[in-house]
Amino acid sequence: MTGDDELNLLNYISGKFIEPDTGEWLEDFSPATGEVIALVPKSGQNDINMAVDAAKKALPSWSSLTNIDRANWLDKIADKLETKYEEIARLESKDTGKPISLAREVDAYRSVKNFRFFAEMIRNLDIEIFDMEDATNRVIYKPVGVGALITPWNLPLYLLSWKVAPAIGMGNTVVCKPSEMTPLTADLLMKTVDEIGLPKGVVNLVHGDGMGAGSPLVSHENVSLVSFTGGTSTGSIVAKSAASSFKKLSLELGGKNASIIFDDCDLENTVKGVVRSGFLNQGQVCLCGSRILVQEKIYEEFVEKFISEVESMKIGDPSDENTKLGALISPQHLSKIEEYIEIAKEEGGTILTGGYPNLSKEYENGNWISPTVIADLDVNSRCSTEEIFGPVVTIHKFTNEKEAIEIANNTRYGLAGSIWTNDLEKGNRVAESIHTGMIWINTWLHRDLRVPFGGVKDSGVGREGGRWSLSFFSEAMNICTKHK
Ligand code: NDP
Repeated sequence: MTGDDELNLLNYISGKFIEPDTGEWLEDFSPATGEVIALVPKSGQNDINMAVDAAKKALPSWSSLTNIDRANWLDKIADKLETKYEEIARLESKDTGKPISLAREVDAYRSVKNFRFFAEMIRNLDIEIFDMEDATNRVIYKPVGVGALITPWNLPLYLLSWKVAPAIGMGNTVVCKPSEMTPLTADLLMKTVDEIGLPKGVVNLVHGDGMGAGSPLVSHENVSLVSFTGGTSTGSIVAKSAASSFKKLSLELGGKNASIIFDDCDLENTVKGVVRSGFLNQGQVCLCGSRILVQEKIYEEFVEKFISEVESMKIGDPSDENTKLGALISPQHLSKIEEYIEIAKEEGGTILTGGYPNLSKEYENGNWISPTVIADLDVNSRCSTEEIFGPVVTIHKFTNEKEAIEIANNTRYGLAGSIWTNDLEKGNRVAESIHTGMIWINTWLHRDLRVPFGGVKDSGVGREGGRWSLSFFSEAMNICTKHK
């Protein structure tokens, strides 16, 4: 057992909280202080087998409920989660190192909203009828089967709820595998579904690492669907494993998104928006704009204002309401970020701002680095084209629309981006030329949950969000009846 403030988490299988069959445990560390905050099951093949069996067993009765019944269950989860709003924010901030205000506004808010949103969509699903002269087609949506839901550490409950809600709403049963580094709110979700009495086996959760728990889950013969959010290299392994048994697959992977700033933009709003897109969640959001492209006429003025805004952000104690930047997820991730900053220097980059924050002794073993802005790099340099996934942005100058588009598209990724201009015709024209799944004009991370979410190129396969989620988490079947 861990000490007083610490937790011992358990797997949740068939409505029971149980220890891992392996008898092994992993430590969960606070990113801010480095202390152990929980022990997490290090599950293996047998744990996965039990969870998949439980999900399979629960499938017939769960899938035979009406959409309205299942939508009502989603609302019950949302209602219960809402009573734990502050607890979600506190646990997420503690586990990820992110500021409490962000955990409240983004993580807690979206986790509740995801369940409400999909409840509403599923409740209002229309039957599709296609009449012919001599026959009628009726399209119905059936569950796919047992779903494997695998999520990363940057937005733990936000992303898990984004998958669980549409998956069970459409009649599937699921086995969740959250990141071993941020298991606390996944545990909270299991406690929530347990408290409201969700039928056992509909939602199961197996903690553990990617190799021990994630890999056997994806390859399990009774898993019919895999929804994975994580890094591109892991996504490639997951895709290979899922493809051999024709599992339905959705991959939400990495990004290296450009923020394109034209000289006719509203400079004040643009600076604020681009600072937010570069550094929200310490730059650990797949949608973050880590390549900032500025038109030459306003380059100097933009950079001056941008640096001043970046340096004004308060970094430190994640539980302080005024903190804007917290800690990075792990010492390994911090080392990766530091290596990229060294590479940038070797590649000829100039560090305009960066270094380490001056924090109290309590945080000396945490994973801290100041927001870092790098200029003078070639657009083909490693730091300008590879995903760093931390508080590091590169700034580049461009002369015209064509050059901005070329630089923006000069990466293996194609997830998102933003364009900042007062000429909306130009903004839309440029947007259509960018090879990504999503783009914002004069805003960033402005989310309507009805729209498609996902990337092209190495940023993923498939779309989630709104009806795209409902379509992914179901099988459409057409029933054609010949008229008499
Ligand atoms: P990883 O790819 O390392 O891990 C994602 C999840 O997959 C974790 O739960 C991990 O377990 C698990 N996993 C690892 N190996 C395997 C395997 N062989 N089979 C099955 N599961 C496995 O990503 P990170 O957690 O480091 O997250 C950061 C990445 O996620 C970034 O690249 C980011 O861009 C991307 N991301 C993409 C989003 C999108 O919507 N496109 C949104 C958010 C993040 P464990 O970590 O416990 O070992």
